[in-house]
Amino acid sequence: MNLFKCTACGFVYEADEALDFCPKCGAPKEKHVLLSEEDANKIYASDESNDLHMELVNLAATMIDLSEAGIEIGLDPGCIDVFEKTIKMAWEIKNLAKAELGIHMTKGKW
Ligand SMILES: [Zn+2]
Repeated sequence: MNLFKCTACGFVYEADEALDFCPKCGAPKEKHVLLSEEDANKIYASDESNDLHMELVNLAATMIDLSEAGIEIGLDPGCIDVFEKTIKMAWEIKNLAKAELGIHMTKGKW
């Protein structure tokens, strides 16, 4: 099994031979490159880590949603303080993970 990358959109796929058309953007196979073993290994090695970062983004988004619901209830100032602080921290976590994913993409670890 080989790993190919569409140079038009960056979509990566496994196949024995290049597909006629990119499943993502439809670019013809002349636009698909066979990744070197080194480049393929970067993608496989970072796959799980990328998934974990995306999960952090999702969890942080859930924390923000929960905190916004808590602020709306507005039970008491202590509650609101916790929810407001949570929103700030979750926002930071979310953006830390997004920044790391951005770095992975620029280094071919995606
Ligand atoms: Zn494509």
